[in-house]
Amino acid sequence: MREGLHKIASADDTIVALSTPIGRSAIGVVRISGSLAATIASQFFKTSSSLIHRQAAVGLWESSNGEIVDEVVAIFYKAPHSYTGEDVLEISAHGNPLILNQIICMVQSVGARAAQPGEFTLRAVTHGKMDLIQAEAIRNFIDAQTNGQARTALRQIGGAVSKRLAPIKQRIVDLIAHLEAGIDFSEDDVELPDNTQTADQVSVLRAALEELHETYTYGKVLQAGVRIVIAGRPNVGKSSLFNRLVAMDRAIVTAVPGTTRDVLSEFADLDGIPLRFFDTAGVRETLDEVEKLGVTRTLETLSEGDLALLVVDGSRPVTDEDLGLREKLRTLPHLLVANKADLVVTREPSLEALKPIWISARTGEGLDALKESMRSFLGSSRAEGLAESVLTTARQNDAVVRAVVSLRAGELALRAGTPHEMVLLDLYASLSALNELTGEITTEDILGRIFSTFCIGK
Ligand code: GDP
Repeated sequence: MREGLHKIASADDTIVALSTPIGRSAIGVVRISGSLAATIASQFFKTSSSLIHRQAAVGLWESSNGEIVDEVVAIFYKAPHSYTGEDVLEISAHGNPLILNQIICMVQSVGARAAQPGEFTLRAVTHGKMDLIQAEAIRNFIDAQTNGQARTALRQIGGAVSKRLAPIKQRIVDLIAHLEAGIDFSEDDVELPDNTQTADQVSVLRAALEELHETYTYGKVLQAGVRIVIAGRPNVGKSSLFNRLVAMDRAIVTAVPGTTRDVLSEFADLDGIPLRFFDTAGVRETLDEVEKLGVTRTLETLSEGDLALLVVDGSRPVTDEDLGLREKLRTLPHLLVANKADLVVTREPSLEALKPIWISARTGEGLDALKESMRSFLGSSRAEGLAESVLTTARQNDAVVRAVVSLRAGELALRAGTPHEMVLLDLYASLSALNELTGEITTEDILGRIFSTFCIGK
């Protein structure tokens, strides 16, 4: 068991949970992990063959008095070669909640307890089957709404980030050992580490971590998605553009709980990044109470957006209202979109001067250019290359930033000729930030926060 996790996850009891969603389905999977898994199997699972590690066996699930509960397929994974690193039994039963519940109750009646959210994965971390970054990636993979999110999560599960960190950590350990040796044997005739040379080495490590930190700009967008608000005067073609944009990838993801405002919103997927488009009521000066309300809501939506598409009617001269709205958008990144290009013979110079992206929501002309502009705003074209290993959670980013700060302090201290005892404090601090990142050092609080966001049974 990993040292830091020992206290928190020392539980060696057996846990059980339904690993498939509650409800009727073709199959439901009950998962058991812990030392009782094999006993439970021999007690309730009746099969002609014996349970062999990683081999599916068909048999009957029977109560202690011989009553058949279901015909099931069971797979036994012998520790440590299982997801959790413990003995694991997975029972695929018919997906009837009543039957599944009965199976779980039987398992609990002989000493297993109901698993907490994410507890199987926590045990996997505890037994060194994966680190915390990989555990977070499993949650992100299950929650992924776009292929891009899923791909990145899968790379993290495969250890892309962890592998990138491992040599950095190793080199910090080496530097620490080097400086410690210099202190311990300073009385003897040991050659002292050269400050400039060591500072240069620290600087290389810092740069490598900074590069990793930069991936979070993309990772954050990828994970959280981007809110894009379509705004403009009435009748400029906002709804038409909205419909065009949300239809650009019909592999559209699940709907998320709706907004309380009557602002239409839909998901679309641009290079794997979930975009949420908001079609807003047209903004104009109005005396109509209902319309006023709509305008207020539009402005509220704008204030919560990450990017706005300010649509103007390209077939007419720019109005004061267009310009007024542009003024309101000063603080929000926005793209100026001139719609109805299909009606335009000569482009209005006053509008052309504002360098809009010309499109026609009617014909679809210019939409590729608009997507390209959104892409460069999201930084996603650049991020493709980085996507090998991307930081995706604030926790991961925070740990990397702390490591960078400590390394920078250590580097400066070395260059200033500060005693190595002080430099070592910085190096230890950076190492401990990275150990927190991967989970070698952790606290109940951190674990609680991470694993409470998992589903039960994972
Ligand atoms: P909104 O009020 O800004 O949402 O505008 P709508 O999307 O409802 O469009 C207003 C009117 O402009 C409708 O009659 C649309 O058919 C028309 N329209 C929208 N986009 C275009 C376009 O690109 N070209 C032309 N010719 N008409 C358009």
